[in-house]
Amino acid sequence: MTPPAPCVASRSSCDAILPPAGGGGKHSADVAQYRKNPVFLERCLARRLAAPDLKPLDTLLSIQKNDSSHRAQSHAIPPVPSPYRTDELPDDLAGKVRPATRPPTALVIGAGVAGTSVAERLAARGWQITVIDEAPGPGHGASGNKAGVFRPLPSLDDNRLARITRAGFLYGLRHFEALAAAGHPVRWSQCGVLHLGRDARQEGKMRAVVDAHQPPEDYLRFVTKDEATTICGWPVETGGWWFPSGGWIQPPSLCAANLAAGGAAITTRFDTKLDRLERIGAEWVAFAPDDTEIARAAVAILANGVGIRALPLAAALPVRPARGQVSHLPATPGSAPKVVVCRLGYVSPEVDGMRCAGATFIADDDGTELRVEEHRENLAKLDFILPGYAAPYDPAHLEGRVGFRPASPDRLPMIGAVPAVAQTEKTTPLADIPRQPGLYAVSGFGARGLVWASLAGELLASQINGDPLPLESELVDAMDPARYLLKPPRPSAGSEE
Ligand SMILES: Cc1cc2nc3c(=O)[nH]c(=O)nc-3n(C[C@H](O)[C@H](O)[C@H](O)COP(=O)(O)OP(=O)(O)OC[C@H]3O[C@@H](n4cnc5c(N)ncnc54)[C@H](O)[C@@H]3O)c2cc1C
Repeated sequence: MTPPAPCVASRSSCDAILPPAGGGGKHSADVAQYRKNPVFLERCLARRLAAPDLKPLDTLLSIQKNDSSHRAQSHAIPPVPSPYRTDELPDDLAGKVRPATRPPTALVIGAGVAGTSVAERLAARGWQITVIDEAPGPGHGASGNKAGVFRPLPSLDDNRLARITRAGFLYGLRHFEALAAAGHPVRWSQCGVLHLGRDARQEGKMRAVVDAHQPPEDYLRFVTKDEATTICGWPVETGGWWFPSGGWIQPPSLCAANLAAGGAAITTRFDTKLDRLERIGAEWVAFAPDDTEIARAAVAILANGVGIRALPLAAALPVRPARGQVSHLPATPGSAPKVVVCRLGYVSPEVDGMRCAGATFIADDDGTELRVEEHRENLAKLDFILPGYAAPYDPAHLEGRVGFRPASPDRLPMIGAVPAVAQTEKTTPLADIPRQPGLYAVSGFGARGLVWASLAGELLASQINGDPLPLESELVDAMDPARYLLKPPRPSAGSEE
């Protein structure tokens, strides 16, 4: 094997090999991408191997290996090990034309809405993914409910939560359309979501938001109490926001559709618990509790909901479990309400002979049992939403489901590279916080995972693949898992609303 070239590469020597900036065409775009994210060099390499003006491969690879100083200074995304097995390249390859034959690989731990969304987005970019879940199929954890609410959450100051949620909602709508067009429809209904004010004061604030933002009417409009009563077919006490393009979604169907859309690029390993992840050479290796190897890949993505707390590698991520119980109420087809109605809690339209009402939100409670007192709480919320509606239901005889939201202290998700340190100077720029090579997380979805998951998958896949990001940097930074090292989280109880 030809010995690697000596460690002489620097940013300038790399620039000498890659075409000069401003040179026009695809190559100058490559350079710009590389300056933002060296992962992109993987793609450059693949293309250059087939290019007529190919430089010696050893030189290119040594630059890739030795450009860490540039990486550390110039971008927030950590270096990712080459998905191409350079140790297997034959001696005589230098200077010859050979297209890359191995697609880049990733492990995704968790087949909820977080894991399946990023798996589908990476598959669409040509990656080969292994999805590992201890459950027997997709959508068994927090993503296992029969119907959840899908709608944005505006604010007067259009804060970061509101902007991320709007982007997630709009991206999600397009994602569901794309899945359906590809033959993998998600089970959901764009029946509309009515979000009522808690009281006259909040109703006034909701009106002010609409007055200030003047949103398109098919996205959001303010409705009075009378109009709200007409929309939901039951007398209500306040007006509020009407989201005509929102609705309910069955999360396991989104998980299944994502996996189906990934096709042969996604391998699933269900009934398989991850015990630990270990970095061996340039790969992450997933081990089962009996110490057998499950799979290995260059990149690993922690999308295992509240299970992330058991992984020491992710100790810097302050994910908390928030138990939630939803009540299943027998319902006849066509009965009111035919839209989702929210007011502190939510109630769905009839789905398969029942409607979902919920949900409770109890932090740091690991109990998996259905509780009568939480059914009672859900019925009280239901009565607050639709006065008198809960009367026929006996909390002692209701079905339901318990799940555990992976909650974050600031109620924003955690999407990006996992920090490699437990502490840092509070003045450290986010981009300079060391990260674990090739290790990413998509977590902290709390009570909004259905609205965020599709966009989160696209964002993380873009980061990993070195593509332009789908959100502005302020929002990307706001979701960076390393943010808590700079500003320790304040405990937040959170809520379903
Ligand atoms: C009662 C309730 C109501 C909700 N209502 C709404 C709503 O109306 N609208 C909304 O937007 N959101 C709602 N949510 C929130 C939303 O469901 C969650 O934010 C979302 O499902 C989280 O998805 P996830 O993929 O991160 O986690 P999960 O769906 O929990 O997926 C994590 C997966 O990882 C697997 N796993 C964990 N550890 C391991 C391991 N060691 N090895 C292998 N596999 C592992 C688990 O089996 C699980 O399948 C609700 C949640 C609950 C509980």
